[in-house]
Amino acid sequence: MRVLLVEDDNLIGTMVRLNLEQDGYSVDWQRSGEAALQTLRGGRFDCMLLDIGLPGMSGIDVAKQARKLGVGTPILMLTARDETDSKVQALDYGADDYLCKPFEMKELLARVRAHIRRSQGSLEVPTDQELKIGLATVNMERRALTTVDG
Ligand code: CA
Repeated sequence: MRVLLVEDDNLIGTMVRLNLEQDGYSVDWQRSGEAALQTLRGGRFDCMLLDIGLPGMSGIDVAKQARKLGVGTPILMLTARDETDSKVQALDYGADDYLCKPFEMKELLARVRAHIRRSQGSLEVPTDQELKIGLATVNMERRALTTVDG
């Protein structure tokens, strides 16, 4: 699992990266919005942790740009600003969730897991169900494919 961390604060960035790595994630840490967008263009990530208060481009602008580029990665905003306005803006411009600083590392890790699970869950089908794809039906339990003409 790859996580893109965008955070200009050294202490918070170090803590978050350390905890994510301990949980088995590979972490790409960028300190500015511009660098984050560059990184997003070059690779696929399972989750993005995005600080709102960045030097230059704000985290909200990064989320907006990322969605414009068609990036579907779950975005979890990290914000020091406990203001309703910036949270609403972040969510409106493409963030999936936010966490206010100071946050508990346990909560951050749980949210990362939840977002990755949800974003990948759409590909999973319960094994006792049949999946219809166009004119074909797939029985997941029997691993059988039936077309409309048999
Ligand atoms: Ca910051």
